[in-house]
Amino acid sequence: MITIKSPREIETMAAAGRIVAATLALVARHVRPGLSTEELDRLAEQFIRSHPGARPSFKGLYDFPATLCTSINQEVVHGIPSSKRVLKAGDLLSVDVGVWLDGLHADSAATFPVDAVSADAERLLATTRTALAAGVAQARAGNHVGDIGHAVQQVAEGAGYSVVRELVGHGIGASFHEDPQVPNYGKPRRGPRLVPGMTIAIEPMVNVGGADIRTLDDRWTVVTQDGSLSAHFEHTVAILENGGPPRVLTTAD
Ligand code: MG
Ligand code: MG
Repeated sequence: MITIKSPREIETMAAAGRIVAATLALVARHVRPGLSTEELDRLAEQFIRSHPGARPSFKGLYDFPATLCTSINQEVVHGIPSSKRVLKAGDLLSVDVGVWLDGLHADSAATFPVDAVSADAERLLATTRTALAAGVAQARAGNHVGDIGHAVQQVAEGAGYSVVRELVGHGIGASFHEDPQVPNYGKPRRGPRLVPGMTIAIEPMVNVGGADIRTLDDRWTVVTQDGSLSAHFEHTVAILENGGPPRVLTTAD
């Protein structure tokens, strides 16, 4: 079921989104060679819980054990923070984080270079960021979910990359995952129509190689089938009345 949020609910989600954005900014300041993903997770959890009424969305969601998903290099999403996963110069670290505040969630992700990364890795980051921006620009009242996926796919595949198909963006609100599903591929004018008050998470997962993925034995970590690098950027947005670009809720401003 697609739920339409009131202006007040959207303000609460924006407040949650500001904490999400600040958490990713905190992560960005700490990412360096030698840091474990568990240390990063601890910092993020303490920071989120320091805000009255806020808690990490992921901890306990489908029994996920941590505040952050931390996914390195060929890991696409859902990596579990660990003291044994220590960042090295040249790694790409994808960090996904959600915050629950006063009954509503916000969700965002970004991929960070650890020190200097290869030119290929930089190009992947730039392309995935551009793909997210292109998807967000299509999230307008009157457009369809397929317009978002089409825009994301055009950018990613235009650069010679693949979009992950088995995992998709989603509606978000009182539940972390709500309808509709928001794939990173699609055809213009197809899929559910976007209406004011919808809140959705748009989240391209872009692989340098093929689109195929598999899940590791830990039952969480999703990796590229061919071992190629992957990047993930995500924002939660609200569809506006005026038919213009959406309000990005997971931002500092
Ligand atoms: Mg997310
Ligand atoms: Mg999401």
